[in-house]
Amino acid sequence: MSRWFAVLIATLALALPRAAHAALSIVTTTSDLAAIAKEVGGADVQVTSLALHTQDPHFVDAKPHLALKLAKADLLIAIGLELELGWLPTLQTGSRNGKIQPGAAGYLDCSTLVRVLEVPTEKVDRSQGDVHPNGNPHYMLDPRQAARVSKGIADRLTQLDPAHADSYRKNALAFIKRLGKATKGWEAALAKAKGAKVIAYHKTIVYFADWLGLEVVEYVEPRPGIPPNPHHVTHVIDVAKSRGVKAILHEVYYPAKNSELIAKQTGATLVKIPGGPDLKGGKTYVQHLDAVVKQLVKIYGN
Ligand SMILES: [Zn+2]
Repeated sequence: MSRWFAVLIATLALALPRAAHAALSIVTTTSDLAAIAKEVGGADVQVTSLALHTQDPHFVDAKPHLALKLAKADLLIAIGLELELGWLPTLQTGSRNGKIQPGAAGYLDCSTLVRVLEVPTEKVDRSQGDVHPNGNPHYMLDPRQAARVSKGIADRLTQLDPAHADSYRKNALAFIKRLGKATKGWEAALAKAKGAKVIAYHKTIVYFADWLGLEVVEYVEPRPGIPPNPHHVTHVIDVAKSRGVKAILHEVYYPAKNSELIAKQTGATLVKIPGGPDLKGGKTYVQHLDAVVKQLVKIYGN
């Protein structure tokens, strides 16, 4: 794990040119990307997120005021893998901003920077409701993927604004070092959670589980994007009881009723997962992940 951080730090430390001035306008689709773009861009950028940390990033209302934000953007940073398929293309077209269209230098699809999990081996029919047809897009809950994303953002900012390349690389390096240190602490605190059997509402948790060695034995949703029926909820309760599940991981933007019921019936603890850091509250990516980890430490901690 620390190998990833070492490689990224070495790559970033290689070249460091120097600075001048101009504030770049960055729009991200999610608040975790915004928090990282802020840290990497520092004083030379302005960052807004289209989705709030309380919103399901699969389904955001493509309201005109969001298209207006994109109209003036120099860089649009997205998660990709069709996470934003239902709303982002409409906003990009509505913005009439050539700089941030797919293929342009001002459009960064971060899924190109990470190791994608759950890539289907057969074609998935979206009409069946599966909202992850090209692989799982929820990689931002894995700090190793977030580190790669921060480096990719620094590289793109350097390309768009070479005058501040020095600052972007230094900021990304500092971020990766902070994240690496925090990650070491999280892994130590959750060492005993390795192999723990958990249940999650949505497949948001796949990268997080991969990072910490958790085993997701069942999902409250029968398929990503499909809400559970009572029959499936009963099945999940049975699985939770028979597999000794102690944690139900639930994204805050989904209806909590069924996850709460499963927790109550099985004695497992409900772990609440926000869609990213609360930017208005000034929260960083590390603070966001720390809050999630802390809830698990209460269950599995030393
Ligand atoms: Zn999803």
